[in-house]
Amino acid sequence: MSGSGKTDLDVPTDTLFGVNNLPYCIFSTLETEKRAGVRIGDSVVDLSVALGDDVFTNPSLNPFMAQGRDRWVDVRAQIAALIADGVPVGALHEIGAVALHLPFEVADYVDFYASEHHAANLGRLMRPGCEPLMPNWKHLPVGYHGRAGTVVVSGTDIVRPAGQRKTPSQRAPDFGPSRQLDIEAEMGFVVGVPSEHGVPITPDQFAEHVFGAVIVNDWSARDIQAWEYVPLGPFLGKSFATSVSPWVVPLSALEEARINTPVQDPEPLPYLRESESWALDIDLTVEWNGHEVSRPPYGAMYWSPAQMLAHITVNGASSRTGDLFASGTISGPDKQQRGAFIELTWGGAEPVAVGDETRTFLEDGDEVIISASAPGPDGTRIGFGDVRGRIVEL
Ligand code: MN
Repeated sequence: MSGSGKTDLDVPTDTLFGVNNLPYCIFSTLETEKRAGVRIGDSVVDLSVALGDDVFTNPSLNPFMAQGRDRWVDVRAQIAALIADGVPVGALHEIGAVALHLPFEVADYVDFYASEHHAANLGRLMRPGCEPLMPNWKHLPVGYHGRAGTVVVSGTDIVRPAGQRKTPSQRAPDFGPSRQLDIEAEMGFVVGVPSEHGVPITPDQFAEHVFGAVIVNDWSARDIQAWEYVPLGPFLGKSFATSVSPWVVPLSALEEARINTPVQDPEPLPYLRESESWALDIDLTVEWNGHEVSRPPYGAMYWSPAQMLAHITVNGASSRTGDLFASGTISGPDKQQRGAFIELTWGGAEPVAVGDETRTFLEDGDEVIISASAPGPDGTRIGFGDVRGRIVEL
């Protein structure tokens, strides 16, 4: 600590949370109510204290996210300067001493289906003998509207859902706890600046509207889903809970992670074309009870998040501050890159080793942790932290 009442931070050079990252959160301590913070190393900077701005005393990031890109860029520069100069005493908390909360108030929630490998695997599993991809899949990013009110922050226990289940051998469905509870490892994108009803957002306007990215676990009850999903898509098999990581990584931190999508053939319609792709090179890791079982590559996704937002709004639907849209399960071409257990275990037919045990779907007490990181400037890595959840008995 220096004599001027500032703390010089000792940030390890190999941290995933260096000055090039600066993800936002909503935190509280024993002494303080929920408020906005930013992570540097293993510390959280209280932005209302450090910057003296009341927008950061809100219990969600929405008011700040609504202020727009110029303001996001300005605040990011102010935080970087503060870290270089020394953070005021009283604005700094050890990460172990804070509670992390849902970082934004979720407005609308949409989930896509943008991995060709995942969509093809699910097609083979759920519609055996048919063409794995539906005819529309390479023409538009397929998605559905999810349930915003059950998006929960990492660390929230997941109560096993109950519902109608019907196996092929049953003549009629019965009711009970899901026997095929699964995960979906995804990335999610958070809208800051709303759009006007009737005015679509083009792919090239993505960074004017989207504030940042989170890790998403779209918990899925496959037995409930399989019986209910025709003809209108996912409903109760997914709406019981969706977990997000507590850190929102700003788009500004992801410039080095930008890559091109795989070749899109047929060429998308003009409203889905980007002049510079927002596909992102993000590596995910899935741990099941502490054992790594998969490494899904976000960079393999067929549709970019800018294309997804353009599609959400192309019919004139408006987008609101706090809208969350997720990518859909991230699966790569290899078995060890599959982001859902239904694919990893091929519908439960091929159990996987989880430490000394084997698993097909989730059992009560199981915990899943999905973490992610991306390339940053000068060989650094940008961490997203993780999203974790434990299954508890109904
Ligand atoms: Mn999903």
